[in-house]
Amino acid sequence: MGIKVEHLNYIYGNGTAFEQHALKDVNLEIKDGEFIGLIGHTGSGKSTLIQHLNGLIRGTSGAIYYNDKNIYSDGYNMQALRSQVGLVFQYPEHQLFEVDVFSDVCFGPKNQKLSKEEIETRAREALTMVGLDESYYKRSPFDLSGGQKRRVAIAGVLAMRPEVLILDEPTAGLDPKGRDEILDQIERLHKEQKMTIILVSHSMEDIARYVDRILVMNHGEKVFDDTPKEVFKHY
Ligand code: ADP
Ligand code: ADP
Repeated sequence: MGIKVEHLNYIYGNGTAFEQHALKDVNLEIKDGEFIGLIGHTGSGKSTLIQHLNGLIRGTSGAIYYNDKNIYSDGYNMQALRSQVGLVFQYPEHQLFEVDVFSDVCFGPKNQKLSKEEIETRAREALTMVGLDESYYKRSPFDLSGGQKRRVAIAGVLAMRPEVLILDEPTAGLDPKGRDEILDQIERLHKEQKMTIILVSHSMEDIARYVDRILVMNHGEKVFDDTPKEVFKHY
């Protein structure tokens, strides 16, 4: 079970004059319930990799197994994969489109064609998980602080009850207090919901104390894959 990536390559603009070999023979394994940090400089391939994990981008070559099934096999249910592997983008603005917080969080489960009651139950549950109480429900997501917007975006993904939660730089642009609050909240999801978490960051210091294992990307290659303690020895 979990996620397994085998010999994954991805080339943007494959076959054109603008080829970018963004992932180079990436191999990795993530077990259920692990808390993984994914780090690397800007342009190292982090965003490209995570978009493969929920099927948004299809590998140029290689394979990805989710719960032991090859997601590139014929008839694989990519739609289901996208709700099982929830992705929170770096810029929460890209994920917020409704008039109030509650409707925004209902958006995902609504698309899953659930009953109104089930949709609302999930939205409440998700908002509680990220620490937003009823006083936020009717507020416009656009009037919230950066940290609060992130929480709404995270709740929107949690409302689909994913098994894996991937967060792309969830602390970007936040002050130290906001950063700690979001990371503590994510740690709580990991501990209390036993959720598999993949946390993308360009700062090892920020995430080392939270994660079980760190994957380091460099120019499209996975160059380290070890505990924070071991990875620190090499940096
Ligand atoms: P990372 O820290 O993941 O390396 P980057 O800063 O390189 O992220 O940005 C990733 C992508 O997002 C780039 O294509 C960049 O142009 C785009 N981007 C940067 N800032 C913003 C923004 N404020 N809103 C939307 N997209 C942005
Ligand atoms: P990171 O998330 O670590 O900043 P990315 O996965 O965004 O890295 O980028 C990896 C490489 O792919 C970089 O060289 C980047 O310029 C390139 N790249 C990213 N998005 C695109 C795109 N839409 N078209 C072409 N090249 C891209």
